[in-house]
Amino acid sequence: MKAKTKMVHGGITRDEQTGAVSVPIYQVSTYKQDGVGNFRGYEYSRTGNPTRHALEEVIADLENGHAGFAFGSGMAAITSVMMLFNSGDHIVMTDDVYGGSYRLMTKVLNRFELDHSFVDTSFPEQVENAIQENTKALFIETPTNPLLKTTDIRKMAEIAKKHNLLLIVDNTFASPYWQQPLDFGADIVLHSATKYIGGHSDVVAGLVVVGTEKLAEDLHFIQNSVGAVLGPQDSWLLLRGIKTLALRMEAIEKNTKDIIEFLQKHDKVTKIYYPGLEDHRDHELAKSQTSGFGGMVSFDVGSEELAEQVLAKVKYFTLAESLGAVESLISLPAKMTHASIPRDRRIELGITDGLIRVSVGIEDSEDLIEDLKQAMK
Ligand SMILES: *Cc1c(COP(=O)(O)O)cnc(C)c1O
Repeated sequence: MKAKTKMVHGGITRDEQTGAVSVPIYQVSTYKQDGVGNFRGYEYSRTGNPTRHALEEVIADLENGHAGFAFGSGMAAITSVMMLFNSGDHIVMTDDVYGGSYRLMTKVLNRFELDHSFVDTSFPEQVENAIQENTKALFIETPTNPLLKTTDIRKMAEIAKKHNLLLIVDNTFASPYWQQPLDFGADIVLHSATKYIGGHSDVVAGLVVVGTEKLAEDLHFIQNSVGAVLGPQDSWLLLRGIKTLALRMEAIEKNTKDIIEFLQKHDKVTKIYYPGLEDHRDHELAKSQTSGFGGMVSFDVGSEELAEQVLAKVKYFTLAESLGAVESLISLPAKMTHASIPRDRRIELGITDGLIRVSVGIEDSEDLIEDLKQAMK
């Protein structure tokens, strides 16, 4: 089955009992047992719920994995995956991971002696050098926010195999439509489904897909023990979102290309970061592991004043955190997501005061371009 078909026909797509063509919302906590311990597949909704199960099946299909798991948020998903490890274990992570992942490792899991090193995983030798005797996993995010730096998933899988580590990939930015890390040898792939998978800025959720039966058993044990599960209503919203994921991603990418064309001609724009551009540092690598370049683009307008003006004057781009929705979103990383990084370090990284990040939506690109044009005047 091709990706677009999988999004409509993957996993469990209907209710066998009634023939309903949409999976019903099983708003239920417990299930009647026909005799003691004799239940029909479901016993209690933390352990399993039919609506959540349908979602878990379709995401496993989309990522070409063995089993899927749905959690109450991307962070709940990441935390649950981290519960696979023991105190004293060590994890090597991408240094510009999502801020919440950074906070989880440095402010929460450190208290349980789950150790970490942050390195620039786009340089494999830095990863090799950070591996210790107690290292158990590589956790990478690719591409990253806001400069769209790319890590070589195949290379990471090679390193992980050599050192007997699990390779975990945060695949939120690419979405399962453009990138399937398990195909390149990753062991676990996860998403903040709040972003592209949900796609309508109306649900907070996390998804995980694992590649083996052993990992599936271990993660199900954790999911059931920790209990950070996604409810049936939110599971249904994701099922609905997934049906149009391919269409949205195609429309978003097309709009992104149009906007970039406009930005390239604009005299105030000094730099554009987009992996689809040949002058992006990681263009060739990105091309080798993703089938599309997505809808995240960052561009430098040269000054904080102009950046702030743009954010104040745009009408169709919503000033907000988050990404991946039908509506275009705009943000200023230096003042928002990356405000906690010291200014010198930020600028060294390329996250200047004039850097604007947009998450392109599915509006008409002519309107989006007009909007940017008037805001930059
Ligand atoms: C948003 C995000 C998360 C966290 O997900 P939530 O659903 O907000 O908990 C994790 N990783 C990436 C890359 C994200 O963008």
